[in-house]
Amino acid sequence: MKKIVIYSKKISDVSNIKKDFFDVNKKYLDKALKENKLYTQQIKRKNCKNCNSKINKIIFKSHKVDYTICNKCSHLNGIYEDSNKFVNKIYLTEEGSNYALPYKKDFKLRVKNIYTPKVIFLKKVLKKKFSLIEIGCGAGHFIKACEKMKIKATGFDVNRELISIGKNYLKKNKVELVKEQNIYNLIKKSKDDVLAMISTLEHLQKPNIILKHIKKSNIKYLYIVVPLFSFSSLVENVFNNVYPRQLSGSHTHLFTKESLNYLVKKNNFKILGEWWFGTDISDLFRSMILNSNYYDTRFLKIYRKYFGDHIDDLQNVLDRKKICCEVHMVLKV
Ligand SMILES: [Zn+2]
Repeated sequence: MKKIVIYSKKISDVSNIKKDFFDVNKKYLDKALKENKLYTQQIKRKNCKNCNSKINKIIFKSHKVDYTICNKCSHLNGIYEDSNKFVNKIYLTEEGSNYALPYKKDFKLRVKNIYTPKVIFLKKVLKKKFSLIEIGCGAGHFIKACEKMKIKATGFDVNRELISIGKNYLKKNKVELVKEQNIYNLIKKSKDDVLAMISTLEHLQKPNIILKHIKKSNIKYLYIVVPLFSFSSLVENVFNNVYPRQLSGSHTHLFTKESLNYLVKKNNFKILGEWWFGTDISDLFRSMILNSNYYDTRFLKIYRKYFGDHIDDLQNVLDRKKICCEVHMVLKV
């Protein structure tokens, strides 16, 4: 099977959904700073989250959290642990309703614009019929996108509120609540071809253990989407008054192209497909607008002419170099 590598995606598709980033920057920023404060109260991380080698010197600070980059695998690590206390507070308090907040709106639009292209990409790589389970399905947007494309899929998540949102939208495919300690068993028993983890791997406390279980299971393919340490992280490092989408709260470490390659090699996976696209330039655009000085809203038109209208082209440069803020990967287990 020849590896498929694709780049970029039209940002204009998602600009409607993310419009609220402009309106409620402060709300999200306050939430992120609160989570970061909690994070800095945890014990120090001793080992790289990806390769387990010893953590080295702090390199930079962003939104009051210190970070370092692993000498061995180039993974980005926050210097504190994502302890049980931290994780429980972030994902599960008030039945996770805080965490669920951004997922409630625009269900159908998200399925169409964000999740259906992911199913199309997966089909393009695998080129055959498959069934799927998803760990960390959230409200089930991807499971719904699979249903629309006649793919049998079941989603699991630890967040009760997200699961109950998803149940309202699904007809054939299912989403189910799972306790974290039962996830390994779920993988072991699965008779499905593909296991999807979309924006999930980076949230797991022990990502390597889940990968080992997948390796031992009957699952043939792994579909992951992970955020990356990228240009966006540099933007966030400068604009401390803007909500940091990439490095804050539950993102206590980030993959890089190199640290992902390390993960693939170590687990003896094979990369079948890659899709590199980010929202780095949109993040820069958002950060600059929030910090610009103007009297008249005509200024925003000028901003579009000299910047906004070229976001896709500028982003394409970062995507092609594989230094953008997100990647989709299909791996043979
Ligand atoms: Zn490492």
